Amino acid sequence: MPMPDIVCQIARGDLDAEIILRTETVVAFLDRRPLFKGHTLVCPVEHAPTVLELPADAAAPLLVAVQRVAEAMKTALGAEGTFVAVNNVVSQSVPHVHVHVVPRKTGDGLRGFFWPRQAYAEGERFAYAERLRAALAG
Ligand SMILES: [Zn+2]
Repeated sequence: MPMPDIVCQIARGDLDAEIILRTETVVAFLDRRPLFKGHTLVCPVEHAPTVLELPADAAAPLLVAVQRVAEAMKTALGAEGTFVAVNNVVSQSVPHVHVHVVPRKTGDGLRGFFWPRQAYAEGERFAYAERLRAALAG
């Protein structure tokens, strides 16, 4: 048996965390190293390594919990908005789906978090779309 990841440990109550929301299917707790204070990780209780393996019937409750947490950040923290993000494999520190919900305010300086944007060469955008359309149709 491999060591359970920290999200599974927190979901089972084997590891201490600052849990802010707990349902049958979802657990949400504060990130120990927040981008901004209140930064929360919303996770399915049932283990799934990435969003790609998340069962469809677990996806809706997870997103509903994300909505609830983001809404709570407005009233509890005075957030004007939120940044909601999921890393899959690359930059994913724990191999258990966790949705980052980060409280945002205008001018909070999170800009540096965003990746540099690229430009498509002539015709390249169509070629990328064709490749993805073919894969989605297959
Ligand atoms: Zn897990």
